[in-house]
Amino acid sequence: MGKLLVQKFGGTSLVDTKRLEAAADIIVKTISEGNSVAVVLSAMGVETDRLIDLAKAIHPEPNLREYDALVSTGEQISVALMAMALSKRNLKAKSYTAYQLGIQTNKRHGRARILDVKVEKLKKQIKKGVIPVITGFQGMNDEGDITTLGRGGSDTTGVAIAVALGADECQIFTDVDGVFTTDPRICSKARLLNQVSFEEMLELSSAGAKVLQLRAVEYARKNKMPIRVLSSFSESPGTLVEEIEEMERPVVSGISSLDNEAKLTIRGVPDLPGVAAKILSPISDSGIEVDVIVQNIGAENTTDFTFTVDQKDASSAEEILKNTSKSLGGGSIEMDDDIAKVSIVGRGMRGQSGIASKMFQVLADNEINILMITTSEIKISVVIQKDLMKKAVNALHDAFQLDKSLKA
Ligand code: ADP
Ligand code: ASP
Ligand code: MG
Repeated sequence: MGKLLVQKFGGTSLVDTKRLEAAADIIVKTISEGNSVAVVLSAMGVETDRLIDLAKAIHPEPNLREYDALVSTGEQISVALMAMALSKRNLKAKSYTAYQLGIQTNKRHGRARILDVKVEKLKKQIKKGVIPVITGFQGMNDEGDITTLGRGGSDTTGVAIAVALGADECQIFTDVDGVFTTDPRICSKARLLNQVSFEEMLELSSAGAKVLQLRAVEYARKNKMPIRVLSSFSESPGTLVEEIEEMERPVVSGISSLDNEAKLTIRGVPDLPGVAAKILSPISDSGIEVDVIVQNIGAENTTDFTFTVDQKDASSAEEILKNTSKSLGGGSIEMDDDIAKVSIVGRGMRGQSGIASKMFQVLADNEINILMITTSEIKISVVIQKDLMKKAVNALHDAFQLDKSLKA
């Protein structure tokens, strides 16, 4: 029996009309195999970057309502073109924006969360044999203003539509064969994974594996929607991301890296209870997400406090810290965006000792200095100098033998 599938194509699969037509052929093939499909699209290629640059050329911190109105337009181009490409292939198709459908989000411009998806219209169209082609990345708030879901947010639209439709699977088409042990562009020995648990994918995505947006994985896990990551360039079977029952797992199953954060340090703050909250509260109150945090051992009743934020938030965070420093009687503020974070992830890490020390030893053997460390139950992350990121990823991939499958 045919399945109901959501097929999401990312910007890398839509760089030009030729690639867009190749994506249309994949949809045609899926339909010809007896399935029903709803399509979700990103903007073509680097269109979203171009739109963001345009906004920044007008104002370094543009009004967020207008920012969303602008950067959401890339997706509208894709869906209209795709509907044309599908009708050229004798299929019935209709493009839809988030507004036309009613993809309701909260108010948070630039990083909105999906609250509700109305699918009556979609269901009706699918029943009539029409392929809905939906803009990813966009939503609307309760005032009817356009919102966007954060970079990579079309993945989340794909999953949300799949959940609302009760689809069998959400297929995410991209420019690599699936989810690898690490970014195949950074490590040539990266190995394609057939299967990844939601839990591990959450950690990989949160640590920088942009192949799936973190929120898409969270949404899928919460609603038990399997995600299949596939290549739009090859016929690889891809990677199934789903709930996996406990079974033998490698200690480390993947490595993620990111180099778009900045490290901020406030020196010489009083070493007293409540200081961390005084430093971080104004940062989070202004909507800035803090990632790694380190408070150094105090000396002479003062301490240094360091944390990382997304680079785009670094200058606002620096301004806030300057004020905090004044009110706390603290010292200087330093900002460093020449950093990267490398994380090893694995469910098998749970209850195993010695993994962190092995990681640190590998880095030491490669003369890579660790600036910050943070751990969770199934993840260990280090912040290092940016130009050493590739070296670190490759060395760790070798040391934990990620190129070899457990079954091999
Ligand atoms: P799309 O345009 O399809 O949304 P993205 O650029 O957002 O594509 O995500 C795909 C990219 O994710 C790949 O090209 C790859 O460089 C990167 N990536 C990072 N980590 C991984 C990983 N573990 N497995 C696969 N790809 C990864
Ligand atoms: N076009 C948006 C971006 O570039 C959303 C996405 O690609 O998922 O971030
Ligand atoms: Mg993406």
